[in-house]
Amino acid sequence: MQISIDEHSGFCFGVTRAIKAAESELANGPLYCLGDIVHNGQEVSRLEMKGLATIDYDDLRTLPSHSRVLLRAHGEPPSTYWIAQQRGIEIIDATCPVVKKLQDRIRACYEAHKNDEAQPPQIVIYGQPGHAEVIGLQGQTNNTAIVIESPAQIDRLDFTRPIYLFSQTTKSVEGFNALVEAIQLQISNCKFQVALEAHDTICRNVANRVAELQDFARANDIVLFVGGKKSSNARVLYKNCVEVNPNTFFVSSPDEVEKVFQSEGRSFSEAVLQRSGLSGEAGLKVGICGATSTPLWLMQKVRDKLSLIP
Ligand code: SF4
Repeated sequence: MQISIDEHSGFCFGVTRAIKAAESELANGPLYCLGDIVHNGQEVSRLEMKGLATIDYDDLRTLPSHSRVLLRAHGEPPSTYWIAQQRGIEIIDATCPVVKKLQDRIRACYEAHKNDEAQPPQIVIYGQPGHAEVIGLQGQTNNTAIVIESPAQIDRLDFTRPIYLFSQTTKSVEGFNALVEAIQLQISNCKFQVALEAHDTICRNVANRVAELQDFARANDIVLFVGGKKSSNARVLYKNCVEVNPNTFFVSSPDEVEKVFQSEGRSFSEAVLQRSGLSGEAGLKVGICGATSTPLWLMQKVRDKLSLIP
């Protein structure tokens, strides 16, 4: 078996920046993080071992004043800053600059149009409802933005009012374009020709990875995609790998590697071959890759685990 790790996989710039901020602030005393710092349980545990305490919104409301709370790369709605200010909590803002810019754009759009009584605008976010970044984006519109995940949901829009469309940073470009097309088609079928302003605000740190990741997946017989179960980015990138290599398997930790290929009485290589339907005449190429929330050390541990399996 030849095992390799994709050199383009691993933390994006925003997540790396937030983790560096946490590590450096931990040196100055107790530190809380509002929500998981990254959608990867293994990395969260590593930082918790160093003293980072993960809290939720209820905890935020009861923390003593002067507590220090780190805001992760996903960003937060204005209400979080307001609560912190009321309670005398110190915020360490590690919101990714790309997300911050998107929040500012959505807020500017909302402020510019909110008083338009003749044609009240609709701000639409192409994103995953309930995702931390999306909650932060909705907050910029006083929670009036409509969140939709697919063209099948455009019946939730009012086609007599202008539409301002933005995207969660980690959604797929294809999905966004399909949504724009569906909205345009619906508008062209309506008697009111309402305006559509579509802003592709997908982060190229993610979007540009797809082609590289798919090249890597194609070049291997088997792919182990390492990602957190809660990560939206991991789900998108995993699907991109499966599209070009159906022998792609999702694992969250090194312990799951054996389970993926469990087959009684067979060696790991035999089980892999059986599961994948490959012939195995040549050396089997196994590639390990991951999401923007997957730490390199975790992919290395998966590689080490694979190397130990007979
Ligand atoms: S995916 Fe892009 S926008 Fe999101 S945290 Fe990473 S760098 Fe920032």
